[in-house]
Amino acid sequence: MSGARVGVLALQGDFAAHARILRALGAEVSEVRRLADLEGLRALVLPGGESTALLRLMDGAPWLDALRAFHAEGGALLGTCAGAILLAREVQPPQPSLGLLDAVVERNAYGRQTESFEAELAAPTFDAPMRGVFIRAPRLTATGPAVEVLARLSGEPVLVRQGRVLAATFHPEMAADDRLHRCLLDQG
Ligand code: GLN
Repeated sequence: MSGARVGVLALQGDFAAHARILRALGAEVSEVRRLADLEGLRALVLPGGESTALLRLMDGAPWLDALRAFHAEGGALLGTCAGAILLAREVQPPQPSLGLLDAVVERNAYGRQTESFEAELAAPTFDAPMRGVFIRAPRLTATGPAVEVLARLSGEPVLVRQGRVLAATFHPEMAADDRLHRCLLDQG
């Protein structure tokens, strides 16, 4: 939706790449660094990075409650990689999370040899193939009944949707793929 006000959480990680893609789609984008920056936004990207570092940076203010309230009030969310970890109901090894996605996520789940890799994804609801860039990526090891799987790698979910929440374990912004950002703008 052109002109929509969208935020990109800019505490940590590759938020600039997401902001660029959203601006190219015609959205009005703001970088979210304080709780007050969430005001007036319709959608928010939680970028990839390092979820433990992100949680430390969130320590000083009630970010988790504010993000849950943002969602409850109708905000749409796209979380990629560390952002997907933050959205999950349960994280392994255990760490705090938002619980907005009925899924269990295991951090750094592809092991040392394949810390980073690219792969073609099976994404039948999209018009053209999707390329996944995985960087120390998590795995969704369980998903609840309300979670729709939009893309898989070797049969496992890597892109899912639950209502206004989209989560990818890979980095669409690094494959110059704007389709998930379009989905976010359509929801917001
Ligand atoms: N391994 C990171 C974490 O556990 C996620 C990596 C990423 O966002 N590319 O938070």
